[in-house]
Amino acid sequence: MKLTVLGAHGTWPGPGGETCGYLVSHEGFNLWVDAGTGTFSRLQQQIAVDEVGAMLITHGHPDHFMDMIPAFYARHYGKMGAPGLPFYSPEGFFDLAALLVSEAGRNVMAIAYDTRDARHGVPFEAGPFRVTPFEMTHIGVRTVGYRIEANGSVLAYTGDTGPCPEAVDLAKGADLFLAEATYQNASNLLPFHLSAAQAAEHGVRAGVGRVLLTHITPDLDPDVSRTEAAAVFGDAVDVAVSGLVIEVGE
Ligand SMILES: [Zn+2]
Ligand SMILES: [Zn+2]
Repeated sequence: MKLTVLGAHGTWPGPGGETCGYLVSHEGFNLWVDAGTGTFSRLQQQIAVDEVGAMLITHGHPDHFMDMIPAFYARHYGKMGAPGLPFYSPEGFFDLAALLVSEAGRNVMAIAYDTRDARHGVPFEAGPFRVTPFEMTHIGVRTVGYRIEANGSVLAYTGDTGPCPEAVDLAKGADLFLAEATYQNASNLLPFHLSAAQAAEHGVRAGVGRVLLTHITPDLDPDVSRTEAAAVFGDAVDVAVSGLVIEVGE
């Protein structure tokens, strides 16, 4: 499976940047995982709008879902994609998001998107992928990480989370651990995000092959994040940047 980073900044986009979003492809099927600001534009540099096979949203913070709205405009009003795109998100998310573009109270986004709840530990199939959501620990917002498997390869993505055993379960034996790493060692560590070192610790406990740090806020130097994670995990640590392509499990 191929991972293409569409955006990787945490919380807000830096100059010319995007917040979180990823394209995961296998056998011609495309998953769009998180839809942060700017990622719909980046996605269209990779594939056509109607080539998205399913969308996966981790949680209802704007840096992870905002571009589902322009994507809806393109699909629905621009006729750039068939109605009923499979759309997975935590329970309760879609009802709130739908309010942002209702037509006189009508849930018009529900035409473009066929919404399904992503429930902890309940796997689902999307094209050639088997996806298992794991509930993360992230303020009071229901948040899931996604464990994405295809052809024996495993990509584990945390979405946003603080330190929690479920993030280790999510990543167990994964080839690539796409882990949020909002903070650095000198940051004020709040319990609903990870530092780079904490992300690496979760990767060690899960026995992952490689760690890819993401969701670093744009005011931090990503080289410092990488160094702090490598001190815990070893050398197999990278920092996600927009446009990065990785073959997972090869
Ligand atoms: Zn976030
Ligand atoms: Zn968040």
